[in-house]
Amino acid sequence: MKLGSLRLCLLFVLCASIVNGFSLDREAFTFTSYDLNVRVEPEQQRLGVRGKITLRNDSAAPQKIAVLQISSSLDWRSIRAGGKPLQFISQPYASDVDHTGALSEAIVTLPEAVPPKGTVDLEIAYEGVIVLDATRLTRIGTPEATANGTDWDRITTKFTAVRGVGYVTWYPIATKDASLADGKSLAEVLARWKMREAGSAMRLQIAVPNSEAEAPELLVNATTCPVAHEVRQEFRADCTYRSLGSAVPALVIANYEVVDRPAIAVHFFRGHDAAAANYANAAEKVLPLISDWFGAPRSKAQTADLADPDAAPFESGSLLLTPLGSTDANLAGLVAAHQLTHAAFSSPRPWINEGLAHFAQALYLEHQSGRQAALDYMRLHRSAFSAAESEKEKQGTAPRSGDEVNRSLINTSDEELYRSKAMCVWWMLRDMVGDQALKRALATYHPDEDKEPSYVQHLIQAQTQKDLEWFFDDWVYRDRGLPEFKVESAFTRKTLPDGYMLTITVANLGAAGAEVPLTVKFAGGEVTKRLVVRGTSSGVIRIQVPKPPEEVVVNDGSVPERI
Ligand SMILES: [Zn+2]
Repeated sequence: MKLGSLRLCLLFVLCASIVNGFSLDREAFTFTSYDLNVRVEPEQQRLGVRGKITLRNDSAAPQKIAVLQISSSLDWRSIRAGGKPLQFISQPYASDVDHTGALSEAIVTLPEAVPPKGTVDLEIAYEGVIVLDATRLTRIGTPEATANGTDWDRITTKFTAVRGVGYVTWYPIATKDASLADGKSLAEVLARWKMREAGSAMRLQIAVPNSEAEAPELLVNATTCPVAHEVRQEFRADCTYRSLGSAVPALVIANYEVVDRPAIAVHFFRGHDAAAANYANAAEKVLPLISDWFGAPRSKAQTADLADPDAAPFESGSLLLTPLGSTDANLAGLVAAHQLTHAAFSSPRPWINEGLAHFAQALYLEHQSGRQAALDYMRLHRSAFSAAESEKEKQGTAPRSGDEVNRSLINTSDEELYRSKAMCVWWMLRDMVGDQALKRALATYHPDEDKEPSYVQHLIQAQTQKDLEWFFDDWVYRDRGLPEFKVESAFTRKTLPDGYMLTITVANLGAAGAEVPLTVKFAGGEVTKRLVVRGTSSGVIRIQVPKPPEEVVVNDGSVPERI
């Protein structure tokens, strides 16, 4: 008896070790291709999917087990390979990657081990409901209204919106668990998944039953998605993502009205006519500026209304979901500049993709109200990352080993860095190389060719005589923090016939170098020149002025400094 239970116990330990042991590498496979038939049944709040996925083993070891994860509100029906059913264990897996705070995980025994770089095709089927569920937020104490305004995904007859990875795991993924209680782990898990999936393709054949005379609108943020057509009481769409890039596949079904313009369609709920027209007008006005910098939009921008006025906006590629209520033209222009940049330009690297879209907002403000307005806007945005910087400084904490690399723009999953800091970096690059050179460099950018971190540096360098290696080292490849400038000395010498020569020495107390503008003011005017001051060193510049100099200003705010 005793022996029997010991054996049973051993057996359990062995089984458990197959599931939980170190041999289970959840991030071994990249899902390179999805071909899914998706049936959405709003009446039942239901989603049913069957289709084929291709997995590539990107680990260094052969893999006999594959992990497939979907939202915990969905259930696995079957997993097959070559038409034959595969053995799999289905278990709940706690992870804040999904709005429900958990995943339905299938641990699949493959017909044979997949060697490194080898692939396997699986036929899959799963289904379940997708209802409003903000468990992952409410359980860490987020007030319910805020939580529901953030995780607003659902399938209902009035409004269906289902966003992909990071919101609702409605197509299979494979990730390590993530927790919102533990700072950055969710952002890191998502960033790793998106980077792995950047080159993956997805085809979605979507069917939605409809008995109404007029079918509701279906919006999908795919590369191509021919207009849904009606076939026997249902409407269908056949959508393709050529490569996922940084896209989060999302679909929206609602009875929208639409303002349709050549570059943008704004889908809105009845009563929001004025806000929708305002947004479309603002987008049309900002379009020439965006096209001039980033090229013509490659796809038509789609903006869709969210019924809850407090709902958090969501963007993926050229699709923007946001509550349409405001008729403020300036604010609309600022948002449209960002959205249209995504429609015109895309990169799998967040610091390029998002950094440029935020940079475009600064360009828009400069275009509207002058350089100072753009600098004020950037100052507002950088308070977050520069505050963190000076906090580190105050505490005198030496940077943790690896921080320089992990917090660098090319590696970070921290939004404040790849959005706000990246915006400032693009602005500095533009000040250094000039508008025309930067525009030409951006025009030669191809996301498929962006394999090396230095790709974009070389594109810019090809358009200018300047060496940018040190700048990319300090700001992009590594996180050297921020500069801190100080005028160390300024000597004035009278020159003939009636000019003055200023010799100014500027010290940089920070570890990141920058090219900083210096302005010498005198009665009735000023002269500005630019000076490169590398990290923890100083630079000297001579500036000629016609009248006695009164003031020297280092940095007009275009270079983020420690505060
Ligand atoms: Zn964006």
